Amino acid sequence: MLAALVLASTAAFGLAGHLAATSFIHHQQARQLDELTEVVLRRSEFAVDFAAASLDDLAGKGFANCDGAALQAVRLHVYQRSAVKDVRLVNPDGSVICSAYSETLEFDKGWADRRDMLASRDKKLFLFRVEQFGGDALGVLRDIDPKTALVAILGINASLFDIMPAELRAHSEVLLALNNGEKLGEFMLDPDRALPLPTGFEKNSVRYPLRTTIHVERAVLSTWNTEAYWPAMALALALGVIFGILLARSRRTEGPVADLDRALARGEFKPYFQPIFDLETGAIKGCEILARWLREDGSVVPPMNFIPLAESSGRIQAMTWHLLERALSDLRPHLRANKDFKLSLNVVPKHLLSAGFVETLRRTVLSARISARQIVVEVTERDELDDLVRAAAVVAELREYGFRVAIDDVGVGHSGLSRLKGLGANTIKIDKFFVDTITIDASTTAIVEMLVTLAKDLHMSVVAEGVETEEQVRALMACGVQEGQGYLVAAPLPFAEFLRLLAGDEAHGRPDVSGPDAALVA
Ligand code: C2E
Ligand code: CA
Ligand code: CA
Repeated sequence: MLAALVLASTAAFGLAGHLAATSFIHHQQARQLDELTEVVLRRSEFAVDFAAASLDDLAGKGFANCDGAALQAVRLHVYQRSAVKDVRLVNPDGSVICSAYSETLEFDKGWADRRDMLASRDKKLFLFRVEQFGGDALGVLRDIDPKTALVAILGINASLFDIMPAELRAHSEVLLALNNGEKLGEFMLDPDRALPLPTGFEKNSVRYPLRTTIHVERAVLSTWNTEAYWPAMALALALGVIFGILLARSRRTEGPVADLDRALARGEFKPYFQPIFDLETGAIKGCEILARWLREDGSVVPPMNFIPLAESSGRIQAMTWHLLERALSDLRPHLRANKDFKLSLNVVPKHLLSAGFVETLRRTVLSARISARQIVVEVTERDELDDLVRAAAVVAELREYGFRVAIDDVGVGHSGLSRLKGLGANTIKIDKFFVDTITIDASTTAIVEMLVTLAKDLHMSVVAEGVETEEQVRALMACGVQEGQGYLVAAPLPFAEFLRLLAGDEAHGRPDVSGPDAALVA
């Protein structure tokens, strides 16, 4: 009976597997290209955010005029920001009054009339194409008062678009355009060759009148990434076997939420600790709590396999408090002995905004007799914080009590820089995505530089996540980043190992290097 069921189920899954694997590959390809299109759009939005923030900064310092001293300050500003080629003061109709680098006016082939500039979600911000000899640029106009506006001219650097995987590079093009179709920049290896039978992926920005498109030759797609076929088939067959066995046993499983509850009751969720270090000296300045589920059978479950469920099933609050209490009791001696040491805790937006969050946090930290100044609340910006006003109010309240707030995953989130600014946090954590490519990809360097410049303007500190090599450390330091976190110093460690690392750090000044597998040793 069991054998027959397993056999029948395996055959059925095998057949479905073939169909599924083929469609899965197409789906995966489409998803990857869709994501790449999104990345280009984010980078472009990011560049506009940066221009707008730079103009606000200038206007705020009273430099929106043509005095000699103001122009000099603006020139310095431009000089420090490689993405910004020039800043101009313009009339309400858009015509130029003066320019930081007046000689660049000679490069203009055309200058848009105010009526032709395109509106953004932010009503005081307009975009237009600046036609120049030697390549088009993007004009970002910021209304300052009824009589004047400032315009930043952004160079559309080809490296912004240089994101295609190696196999597709010669067979694809990446385009950035305004939403009226005017092209701002494009990237392709051989501009003279038209792509035969291209298939396209397009994204429109909701914040700015920008559109990105990726075209890929259809023929190349059918050979790209097809190595997924056999793994997918193997998975289907394995699922068939498992399903057959489950069916044969026909035992009711209890469901994953019940598993979570049981694990919570048994205290199976444990804080692991990953050091945050000074990039220059390697000294450990603090750590982040990262949750691990240590199951009865000795396996260690990573957070991505249970945090989303904990969040959707309303268990995340209990889990977060449990992890914090545990971490505070583990680290209390160290935190009390070293008042500069910071402990970071991940909090999902829903939890941050829930009633009583600040109160419970205060009570928990107070009863551990730890200073609020040593606690950093990390909030992810991966999903748009839909209630920015309320979030900012909670952040302000936290800061009043002395807590610090960090925005997590900056650069891959939906929020955009103006929102980062609006939240009022102390620290931004640059996502691993940028750190991964910083030593290979010029556009990443430009973005990290922009983030650091902006963080400085906003008096925020910067931590880079996922630092794995000394080369990345050098590149990050060159961009002005001061702190990092990553396998280079240590993976997230169980408390006992983390303590040994701290002891070694205090003894030698520079910590021992542990590999990524350290996290798997419970
Ligand atoms: P995160 O907050 O961005 O944490 C950083 C993640 O990057 C961690 O993954 C960490 O192990 C990993 N990482 C750090 N350095 C390196 C490196 O050099 N190389 C590589 N490849 N990875 C590195 P982890 O522990 O799997 O956590 C994943 C995510 O789960 C976290 O991302 C966070 O968003 C969430 N999470 C973890 N613990 C908690 C928690 O207690 N509460 C909440 N709400 N979320 C948590
Ligand atoms: Ca985090
Ligand atoms: Ca992160």
